[in-house]
Amino acid sequence: MRYKQFKGHDVSTLGLGGLRFPTAPSDPNTIDRIEGQKVVDTAISCGINCFDTAHSYQNEDSERFLGEALSKYPRDSYYLSTKFYVEYSDDIEATFEAQLKRCQTDYFDFYMLHCLDENTITAYMDKKHDYLGYLLRQKEKGRIRNIGFSSHAAPETLKRFLDWHDQFDMALIQLNYLDWIMLEARRQYEILVEHGIPVWVMEPMKGGSLSTLNKEAAAVLKAVAPKRSLSSWGFQFLQGLSEVQVVLSGMSTVSQVMENAAIFDACNPLNNQERAALSRAAAIFMETMGVPCTSCRYCCSACPADLDIPLLIKGYNEQKISGSTWKIANLSEAKSPTTCLSCGSCVKRCPQKIDIPQVMKRFSMEMEV
Ligand code: SF4
Ligand code: SF4
Repeated sequence: MRYKQFKGHDVSTLGLGGLRFPTAPSDPNTIDRIEGQKVVDTAISCGINCFDTAHSYQNEDSERFLGEALSKYPRDSYYLSTKFYVEYSDDIEATFEAQLKRCQTDYFDFYMLHCLDENTITAYMDKKHDYLGYLLRQKEKGRIRNIGFSSHAAPETLKRFLDWHDQFDMALIQLNYLDWIMLEARRQYEILVEHGIPVWVMEPMKGGSLSTLNKEAAAVLKAVAPKRSLSSWGFQFLQGLSEVQVVLSGMSTVSQVMENAAIFDACNPLNNQERAALSRAAAIFMETMGVPCTSCRYCCSACPADLDIPLLIKGYNEQKISGSTWKIANLSEAKSPTTCLSCGSCVKRCPQKIDIPQVMKRFSMEMEV
């Protein structure tokens, strides 16, 4: 594992993201303790020392699980990061105290305001709640070592936020070779660099879609390097960005951890020829990728119809890409996209800005054909 210095600490360049721990087959909000522990133990044995979670991940079970899984390791042998999400709770004090308990710790190495975007910026800057003031006081007490934020904001919003306060210790943004073009991730990265804020990366594989691509896009990359994994291409792209401090990857299995950790044993940025091939593959993939859902599940708790939105979008994409009829018969009528109320509550939770009610409508119409 390669490490980068952060204020005198060696932090692994690959971190374990807590959004995709293995869950029980019947409940996406309950982490499978046995399989999850194997993932954490493997990460530690591969040299990963950076772990990230949030209270909104798996309805707090990600924090609870990580606290349990890391409790057998000395607290100073790893760096722990979590977040406060104003859409999940507006009581930062109660949230923070509960997070310390769930994570079985008395301090966080990194603490972030979660999911800055066009919907949350006003709340995060609100003087009455003064969330940042509360965090700064916890930092003075040693209960937080570093304060940052995670962002899905457009570049102008990010700039507005940093005009308000730019003394953050780090920031976490969605960065991968597709979003470099599609979601202006390049500009976001440049803005953080201009402000001297270390960049942490989330969604390096865009919810796993860059680990599989499609046949045509994968063929472009295989022609250049037949044995290299598609994930390796995505990670090596990020290794070429010098200001990236940590790449957080939500790994669900032991083999994923081992494969990804091996890539971060070295630093092999892409050369010019490889970058050109990656751009060609990205362009081909974008034409057929369908709805760019990353399965983060932020939308699910906002849905009054209790729909498994990412599962439905996955089915919609599979149907579009393969042309085959998705096994909608496996869903009960109550879970079908036809039960969408078009209320729009999910939309403001979606970091990818997907028009979910519209997707549900299209899916419902195509099912009827
Ligand atoms: S628009 Fe549909 S999918 Fe979205 S929250 Fe409302 S009912 Fe659920
Ligand atoms: S629709 Fe948006 S919020 Fe919901 S799981 Fe997909 S990316 Fe996440």
